[in-house]
Amino acid sequence: MEFLRKDPERFWKVRLFDELGFERKKCTKCGKYFWTLTEQEVCNDSSCRDYEFIGDPPAKRKLGYFEVWERVSKFFVERGHAVLKRFPVVCRWFPLYFTIAGIVDFYRMSNGSLDFEFPANPSVVNQVCLRFNDIPNVGINSKSYTCFGMINQQSLYDGKEGYWKDECIELDFELLTKVLKIPPEEIVFIEDAWFGANAFGACLEYHVRGLELGNAVFTQFVGTPESFREMDKKVIDMGAGWERLTWITQGTPTSYECVFGPVVEKLKEACGVEYDEELFLRYAKLSGKLNVDEVDDIFSVKRKIAEKLGVDVETLEKNIEPLQAIFSIADHARALLFALSDGGIISNVGGGYNLRVILRRALSFIDKYSWGVKLEDVIAWHAEYLRKMFPELEENLEHVVRMVEVEEERYRKSKERGKRLVEKFVKENRVPSEEELMKLYDSEGITPEQLVEAGLKIEIPPKFYARITELHMREKEKRDKLEFDVSNVAPTEILFYEAPEIFDFEAKVVKVFPEGWVVLDKTAFYPESGGQACDKGMIGGREVLDVQKVGGVILHKVDGELKEGGVVECHVDRERRERLKKHHTATHILNAASRMVLGKHVFQHSAFKEEGKARLDITHYQALSEEEVERIEKLANEIVAKGYEIVVEVMPRGEAEQKYGFNVYQGGPIAEKTLRIVSIDDIDHEACCGTHCRNTREVGIIHILRTKRIADGVVRIEFCAGDVAREMLERSKKIVESVCSELGVSSEQLPEKVEEIFEKWKSLRKEVKKLRKVAMVGRRGNERR
Ligand SMILES: [Zn+2]
Ligand SMILES: [Zn+2]
Repeated sequence: MEFLRKDPERFWKVRLFDELGFERKKCTKCGKYFWTLTEQEVCNDSSCRDYEFIGDPPAKRKLGYFEVWERVSKFFVERGHAVLKRFPVVCRWFPLYFTIAGIVDFYRMSNGSLDFEFPANPSVVNQVCLRFNDIPNVGINSKSYTCFGMINQQSLYDGKEGYWKDECIELDFELLTKVLKIPPEEIVFIEDAWFGANAFGACLEYHVRGLELGNAVFTQFVGTPESFREMDKKVIDMGAGWERLTWITQGTPTSYECVFGPVVEKLKEACGVEYDEELFLRYAKLSGKLNVDEVDDIFSVKRKIAEKLGVDVETLEKNIEPLQAIFSIADHARALLFALSDGGIISNVGGGYNLRVILRRALSFIDKYSWGVKLEDVIAWHAEYLRKMFPELEENLEHVVRMVEVEEERYRKSKERGKRLVEKFVKENRVPSEEELMKLYDSEGITPEQLVEAGLKIEIPPKFYARITELHMREKEKRDKLEFDVSNVAPTEILFYEAPEIFDFEAKVVKVFPEGWVVLDKTAFYPESGGQACDKGMIGGREVLDVQKVGGVILHKVDGELKEGGVVECHVDRERRERLKKHHTATHILNAASRMVLGKHVFQHSAFKEEGKARLDITHYQALSEEEVERIEKLANEIVAKGYEIVVEVMPRGEAEQKYGFNVYQGGPIAEKTLRIVSIDDIDHEACCGTHCRNTREVGIIHILRTKRIADGVVRIEFCAGDVAREMLERSKKIVESVCSELGVSSEQLPEKVEEIFEKWKSLRKEVKKLRKVAMVGRRGNERR
C-alpha cells in the first residue's frame, strides 16, 4: 500500500475523474481517500454513513433481482463483452473447496504458480459464490450472505487487446448512472489496494449512500510489494454485488427481502412471525454498521443497537431476532441448494463441514422458535423462484432434498444424545473450556448457544465457528515424495501411450541413483500415477520393484545394480499390465454408473488400481443399500457389454473444460496447461494419465466385492474386473457346488435350505439358553441353602 500511496495520481486517478471533475478528498471520519463530485467531507462507506437509501432509493426506477442481471448483461454485451455461463460453486479446477469470488472462475495452476485463463476477452459473468467466513453476520447487516451473486467484469490487457482502468471505470460509471439510474453525484470512489498470493494492484471501490456496490481491482504487478515487476498482461477484475445492485434500486428495509423473492414472505407466513415494523425499519438503517467480529461479539452488538434505538435488549430480541433468523434460514437454504446441486457433499472435512455448519444453524433457528417449517421446503421454494435463471437447480432437487433429509436425521439423533449432556452441565453448573465447547459441537452437535439457552452462563468465544471450521479444513497430506534431483536428466521417452503393445524393448541406462533407482532413455514401464499401480517386470535381468515419475523423468527401482551407460533388455509383465488396465477402465465405468444411479453429487474421492483388485472411493452421503449396489453393478456391466470405444484426446485445458465440463477433474485440479482426456462415449470424460482398454468390452466383467461407508461423505467400492473377476466368480461357484452336494440340494434350493438350517439353529440356541437358565437357578438355589 505504501508503494501505491506514494503516487496516487498514477494508481487511482482515471480519465473519468479528470473529465467530469471528480475531486480527491480524505474522509474526515475514517481517513480513507475518496473521489467525489460533491463537497462532501465524509466518504460513502457504511462505517461513515448509515444505509440512507432505505425507504428512499437514489435510483430512479426499482429493478427486480433478475431484471438487474438482464440489464447489466445487455449493457456489457452491447459494449463488446462475452457473457459467460456461471461456473459451479464447488470448485473443481483450482485447489479451493468453493468458488469464493467471480475471478476464481479464471484461476488455474501452472507449474506451481497462479495463472489466469479467460475463455473470452473481455467478458462478464454472474458467478454464484459461497463464502463461510462471515456466518454470524448473515441475517444481521444485509450485506452478508453465505451464498451470493458476484457480477464480474474482466479484461486482460496487453496494450493492444482488452482494456485497462480508464475504460473499466468509464463502463462502470455508465452502468451505474444510465442502467441503474443513480445520479452521478451520489457515487463515490474509495481508494484501496488488493493483495493476492503473488500479485497485487490498486483498486477503486464504488459506494452509494453507505453501501459498497462494487470493487474494480487493477491487478498490475506480480510478486509482493517488496519484490515485484509489472505484468505483461494486466487484469481488470471488477466484482459487483448482484444483491446490492438490486437493493440500491429498491431501498427495502433489508436486501434479503428483494433478493429471495417470495421465499421470505412464505417463511414469515409459515412461521407466523409478528414484529414492530417501525422499529425494524429504524434498526435496518443502522444495520450497515453492525459487525459481529473479534471485537464485538453478538451480545455487545445487541446492547449497542438497543441503546441506539432507545429500547431494551429484550424488546430488540423479541422484534428483530426472529426476522434475522428468517433471513439466515433463507440464506443457508439457498447456499445448500447451490452447493449440493453442484456436487457438494455434507461431511466432517473441508468444505463439506461448512455445509454441515450452516445446515445445523438453520435447523437450530427453526428449533429455537419451534417453527413448523421444513428446511427442504425452503430449499424447494428457492429452486422454483430461481428456475428462470438456474433451471439446473430444479433438475437436481430430488437428490438435494434427500441429502438434507439424511443430514437432518443425523442432527436430530445427535441432538437427542446431546440434550442429556447439556442438562448435566447445567445441573453441575460447569463452564466448559473452549476446547470442550469444540468437542461438544463436533462429536455431540451441541452448539454453545444451546448451552446459553439452557441457562448456563458462558461467553461464546469470538469466531467460534470460524475456528472450528478451520480445524476441519486442514486436510492431511501424507505420502512421501521421492527426492531425487533430476534437473540434469533429460525427460524419459514414453512408450506406453503411443505404443501400448510394446512390452519388450531395449534401452540405455542414462542415470543411476542410490538404492537401485535407474533412469532409462525410453521406457514402456508405467509409473505409479493417477491411482494406477506401477508396472513390474525385468530390466537387464533385474527384477523391477517400483516405478515412479518425477517431473518428466521416470525412475525404476531394480533389485540389484545396473551400470550407467549400459544397454539393457527390458520386459514388462504383460499380464499384470492387462489386469491393471482393465481395473483402471472399470474404475471409470463404475464411477459413471454410480453417478447415474446415485446422483450428480457423486465424484471420485480417490481410487487405487492393483493387480488383484481395485477400489474406488466416491463422495456420497450414506452407505449404499444392497439394491443400489446391484443397480450400479448391473449398469456397469451393461456399459461393458455395449462395447463403447474409449477415446484419448490431448487438448488445452480451457478447451477440455468447455467441451466436457469440470467433471473431468475427477482426480483433482491439474497444474498443466494440456490435459489428456479419456472418454467413454458420452458417459464419462476424465483427465487421466492411466493406461486404458480401447473398447469397454475388453473389460470383460465387473464384479463388486463389497462397499463400505469409510468416512463421513465417502463410500468405498471394492471390485475386480476381467480375468480376476471371472476367476473369483468361478471360485464362488465351486464353493456353492460343494455346499450343495454336501446338503444334497440343487443351487436353486440352497437359499431355502440355508434358511431352514438357520431357523433350526436359532430354535436350538433358544432351547440351550432356556436350559442354562434353569441350571443356573438350580445352582443358586443350592448355594442359598
Ligand atoms: Zn469514511
Ligand atoms: Zn483414470
